[in-house]
Amino acid sequence: MELSQLIEDLRERPSVQIEDNGDVVLKGSRCGGCDALAFPYRDACHKCGERTPEDTALGGAGELYSWTRVHVSSTLPTPYALGYVDLAGPGTGVRVFTQLVPATGDWQVGQKVKAVIADDVAGGWAFAQDTGEQEHA
Ligand SMILES: [Zn+2]
Repeated sequence: MELSQLIEDLRERPSVQIEDNGDVVLKGSRCGGCDALAFPYRDACHKCGERTPEDTALGGAGELYSWTRVHVSSTLPTPYALGYVDLAGPGTGVRVFTQLVPATGDWQVGQKVKAVIADDVAGGWAFAQDTGEQEHA
C-alpha cells in the first residue's frame, strides 16, 4: 500500500470519535472470524489472520495498567507521560498505548482513566484521570 493511500484510509477511518455528550470513543475493529478486538483498526486479525474486520466502537474508559514520565526527548516537549490503558466496557481485552494528560499528573497503576480531546498531543487525543465529570484536557 502506498503511503498516500494509507494516509487517505486513516482520514476516512479516524481512531476516535466524539459523541454528542462530549465523550471520546476509540474506534477499532472486530475480527469476523474469531471476534478478537483490535485498536487501532486492523485489516488482518492479529490472532487468526482472517481479513474480515468490522468497524467497532471500543468505548473510552479504562484502567491504567502501567505508565512512565519522560524527561528527556529530542522530538517532544518534556515532560510528557505515556501509559498502557486496559479498556473497559465494549473494549474489554484491548490494551492501548497512549499519552497521558496532564504530563505532571499524579498517575497510579489501576486508576480509572478516560479518553479526552487533547489539542497539544499528537493525534489530538490522550487519556486523563476519570473523575466522573465531563472535562477536556
Ligand atoms: Zn480473528
